[in-house]
Amino acid sequence: MERKVTWETYDAAQLEKLESLNREYRDFLDNGKTERECIDTIVNTIEAEGYQELESLIRDGKKPQKGDKVYSVCMNKSIAMFQIGEKPMAEGMNILGAHIDSPRIDVKQNPLYEEGGFAYLDTHYYGGVKKYQWVALPLALHGVVVKKDGTTIEMNIGENDDDPVFFISDLLVHLAGEQMEKKASKVIEGEALDLIIGSKPIVLTGEEKVEDNKEDKEKAKEAIKAGILDILKASYDMEEEDFLSAELEIVPAGRTREVGFDRSMILGYGQDDRVCAFTSMRAMLDVGATERTLCCILVDKEEIGSVGATGMQSRFFENAVAELMNLMGEYSELNVRRCLARSAMLSSDVSAGFDPAYASCFEKKNAAFVGKGMVFNKFTGSRGKGGSNDANAEYIAYLRRILDEKGIVYQTAELGKVDVGGGGTIAYILAEYGMNVIDSGVAVLNM
Ligand code: MN
Repeated sequence: MERKVTWETYDAAQLEKLESLNREYRDFLDNGKTERECIDTIVNTIEAEGYQELESLIRDGKKPQKGDKVYSVCMNKSIAMFQIGEKPMAEGMNILGAHIDSPRIDVKQNPLYEEGGFAYLDTHYYGGVKKYQWVALPLALHGVVVKKDGTTIEMNIGENDDDPVFFISDLLVHLAGEQMEKKASKVIEGEALDLIIGSKPIVLTGEEKVEDNKEDKEKAKEAIKAGILDILKASYDMEEEDFLSAELEIVPAGRTREVGFDRSMILGYGQDDRVCAFTSMRAMLDVGATERTLCCILVDKEEIGSVGATGMQSRFFENAVAELMNLMGEYSELNVRRCLARSAMLSSDVSAGFDPAYASCFEKKNAAFVGKGMVFNKFTGSRGKGGSNDANAEYIAYLRRILDEKGIVYQTAELGKVDVGGGGTIAYILAEYGMNVIDSGVAVLNM
């Protein structure tokens, strides 16, 4: 079963549309390197297109009308969007879903220390990372510091051309004989992923000599750390203790770039799964009036098992549906259950694009190819499909009919060869409501 190459199906007008969509996508990636930044970007975008916050409608007791657009944000990290359809919600919704968290390195709660002439932030990585990929490259620091009085300081350092960047040290090749013999998982240990953030002691010249008081003596002992604390105080009005209630994420610095002489690809951090988050959001904004209510869920914590208040396993989404049905005058426990069970979902997450350099890890007939259209996965999971959703044949047939009728290029895939590895998504969590769910998404190289 040969699948089409999308490039060969576009006319000039479609190519122009593709380029403009991709420009918007690249901005989305550049402006949203953390889940909080993604939510800010999404809320700004959808409010400009008429979306109203569910909580403000509840407060004002306003009933949404058919065609109205409503959203609800959970703790600045997850969002549910709705567009009210013609039919009662209890008849089910058409749902899109994706995740907006990406693997990264988090700053620990007590992170700041000085050692051997450098100031460091101690870290603990988040999600599945190949640790050796994070050393000796420019890194940016994004996130929030929430102070005891409740004020939030936003941090974003390393993205502007004149910003400083940070980095994690690797051993010079001249001394790396022993290191190079290690397994890739051991070459860089988790505790060695500490971020270098400075090297200049606070007292540099005789004129700024340390005075004979306790505080200054303390500073002289760890003068580099003291210098960093001075800068943090001056720039962010933050004390060392404020790290306790901070969420600081270390990500690759710099903007996304086009790849290739033909500029046919996009290189950038966080495309798993912001490519699906962006396209799902865009689809919600581009669609016209519909019979069924539409919904789009963009969630946090997928990379660590969809846990916590902002992960897909949270009641957040179900509560938002119940609140919305209540506003619509449709609420009952049974109606919420009916709504969810009768819904259908495209749960989008990236698929591993076939990589000729690692061809032996793929089974070519059932691999996703970059440029061959949207990917559908009946199963994900690992070791005999463990942890997977299974999209019903009836649902897949229904989707095939729509895709073929509309001339949409698509492909089906599994994640790699049997027993080579695997992975999970949020699909199985929504499937627990008894709705039709299929894993789908975009093929990405180097996800
Ligand atoms: Mn993903």
